[in-house]
Amino acid sequence: KEYSGNSQLPKKIDTLPDVNLDNSKNAVLADKISIFEGDITTLQVDAIVNAANSSLRGGGGVDGAIHRKAGPELLKECITLNGCAAGEAKVTKGYKLPAKHVIHTVGPYGEKTNILQGCYKNSLDIMLDVKLRTIAFPCIATGIYGYPNLPAAHVASREVRKHLEKNHDAVDRVIFCVFLPEDKVIYEGILQSYFPTQ
Ligand code: ADP
Repeated sequence: KEYSGNSQLPKKIDTLPDVNLDNSKNAVLADKISIFEGDITTLQVDAIVNAANSSLRGGGGVDGAIHRKAGPELLKECITLNGCAAGEAKVTKGYKLPAKHVIHTVGPYGEKTNILQGCYKNSLDIMLDVKLRTIAFPCIATGIYGYPNLPAAHVASREVRKHLEKNHDAVDRVIFCVFLPEDKVIYEGILQSYFPTQ
């Protein structure tokens, strides 16, 4: 297991999971969750998620890194998609990336929880529709878009938990790709409460 409880974080957290934890599924679900620290463009998975902007024409941060690695064909396909609203998601091929697909989603500008929830939910729904079994998420909206890191990690974990409770048979792995040491500490601290291992 790549995560463990982190003693630096308070045990009592502000936003406890508002999901009905079906404890009988805990072992199955926790087994499908990983943290990866590093560059999402190196991951050989069915889909990496891009924290894009609504034009889908590339940008800074993780968006820039994904377009650079995928090559210009990615931008060409993105242009045919006519943009993407905040909270929605659209899928393309991965081109020169080791990932087979990119799911582009647009986070909220600022702390709009329902939009961030939509990013995770709609990305996971696409995963299901296209029959992809492995997916990696960056910390959507927590960079240039300014969503606070800890609440964002709670939203991410909660949406993934909700999705896996219903669809765990269709999913092999969900990776939380953290780029900043701060996010690693956060995810290590909270994942145990959404995906208990015992
Ligand atoms: P947003 O505009 O949605 O805030 P950013 O790209 O600015 O998106 O930031 C989202 C997260 O992606 C941040 O945690 C940032 O550190 C991280 N990030 C930046 N580059 C990469 C990368 N190559 N792989 C994974 N995560 C990345």
